[in-house]
Amino acid sequence: MPVPIRGLPSLGTALLSGRNLSLQDNSQDYPHPTPPIYADEQTMLQAVEDLRAHLGNDAVSVDQGDIESHGYSEWSTSNSTIRPIAVITPTCTEDVSFIAKLCTKYRIPMIPYGAGSSVEGNVSTPYSGLSIDLSQMNKIVDFHPEDMDVVVEAGVNWVELNREIKSSGLFLPVDPSPTAQIGGMVATNCSGTNAMRYGTMKDWVMNLTVVLADGSVIQTRRRPRKTSAGYNLNGIFTGSEGTLGIVTQITLKLAVIPTHFGVATTTFLSVKDAAGAGTAMIRQGIPLAALELMDDTQMEVINRTGGIAGKLLPEKPTLFLRFSGSERAVQESITQVRDICKGFGSNSFQIATSEKEMENLWSARKQALWAMLAVRPEGTQIWSTDVAVPISRIAEIIDYSKKQAAQLGLFSSVLGHVGDGNFHQAVMYNPDKIGEAIAVTACLNDIIDKALEMDGTVSGEHGIGLGKKACLAKELGSGTIGVMRSLKRGLDPHWILNPGKIFDF
Ligand SMILES: Cc1cc2nc3c(=O)[nH]c(=O)nc-3n(C[C@H](O)[C@H](O)[C@H](O)COP(=O)(O)OP(=O)(O)OC[C@H]3O[C@@H](n4cnc5c(N)ncnc54)[C@H](O)[C@@H]3O)c2cc1C
Repeated sequence: MPVPIRGLPSLGTALLSGRNLSLQDNSQDYPHPTPPIYADEQTMLQAVEDLRAHLGNDAVSVDQGDIESHGYSEWSTSNSTIRPIAVITPTCTEDVSFIAKLCTKYRIPMIPYGAGSSVEGNVSTPYSGLSIDLSQMNKIVDFHPEDMDVVVEAGVNWVELNREIKSSGLFLPVDPSPTAQIGGMVATNCSGTNAMRYGTMKDWVMNLTVVLADGSVIQTRRRPRKTSAGYNLNGIFTGSEGTLGIVTQITLKLAVIPTHFGVATTTFLSVKDAAGAGTAMIRQGIPLAALELMDDTQMEVINRTGGIAGKLLPEKPTLFLRFSGSERAVQESITQVRDICKGFGSNSFQIATSEKEMENLWSARKQALWAMLAVRPEGTQIWSTDVAVPISRIAEIIDYSKKQAAQLGLFSSVLGHVGDGNFHQAVMYNPDKIGEAIAVTACLNDIIDKALEMDGTVSGEHGIGLGKKACLAKELGSGTIGVMRSLKRGLDPHWILNPGKIFDF
């Protein structure tokens, strides 16, 4: 059944005009780059039928629901109006390689898709093409507890992985959305609440199996804990958002599960005081496992969505603290932290008393974005920035950001991983009200500019995707983006891997 590429002409460029491609290999045309020309709708549909014949019916979907859910994300700050022509679900690296060869032949964009939890339009399909859904590649291939590593397929979910290997006393400490898959986590170089103690995804990748644009398959390195053999290709593919290759298998380092945990919450009069207390804890070298901030508005949202296991919390700027280590170390850290908080005017300090309570408190923080979506008024969208600054500037930028956003007179809220100098300013607005949309854009761009002025970054953890290309150019400049573009051209000469993301052709 032919499927129209909805909205395809709306960007109105030659790239999207659907001119037919020539099927001969013209890779020799480079290095005098000409803009890529992608297959027209009919050619894409022909490729879909070729894939159906080779991979089987179950691996190919042109169902409108599947197409919509893979091309649009409710929690993303930006989306394209254009949808993929089909969703392809490979089950092994060889399938992915076959898909890539076919896409190279027909010049069809390939957009890798994990769980779709990314928030910067990373999985959207502005040039249509195939959404390559890796979720069926969800096997734990090999587990080496003695080496403290595990080999997984790209579609393994990190929560599931940790459940499977828990009895070994090991875990993967990177914790983005509970739905996220390892391939997507590598591709966004994600982090989460544990990043302060354990670092980001790049720190846990030992090697990657990657299918390149032309279908060839490489492994970045072998399995020792360290190597200085050759270029660090892990670092090139990690964070590349599916624009350089499709990751099909990953060897991950694992950490030892600490013997004791503690979770506490403490409230302050202002977000500035809360962030200031956080910075003081880091500066004093207290070995916190995580340090998260939610402002008064976010606490109100939690209460409106039922509180934490039915319990309502004070609607004040709140620090969520997690401690881990030996029983004595946890107790010592709690005492030190309590003293610091008092110095910043903290007026309550609650310690979770059971494992269940700790879990509930932490999952409330993890699911803050979904809680905001649940209370969102009809017709509004959430736009959430993700900036990071040197840690000494975090209190200052959060204070600035909150004041700027308050002037909009809309729902706005701050939450963040203050332990890493990283926070999110979320605003709910109605995109159909042009004045509102312009004011929100100006406000969030101003916050981003402020972060850059402080020598920060326009994306602490969510990547660039579709939505932050202009910001990246501001942060890094044309020389640095030129190096990235050269890498992209070298690995993907026909520009078919997730085009329209990070930077343009
Ligand atoms: C409730 C919620 C909480 C979140 N909390 C955090 C947080 O604390 N920290 C954080 O960093 N992020 C967070 N995120 C964002 C998100 O979870 C991360 O970006 C995550 O890493 C995305 O994984 P995914 O499997 O959903 O990838 P997807 O969204 O499916 O894809 C993300 C990008 O990776 C590419 N990709 C996917 N799979 C592959 C592959 N196998 N090979 C190559 N490229 C691939 C895609 O093309 C896309 O560009 C949160 C999101 C939500 C909804």
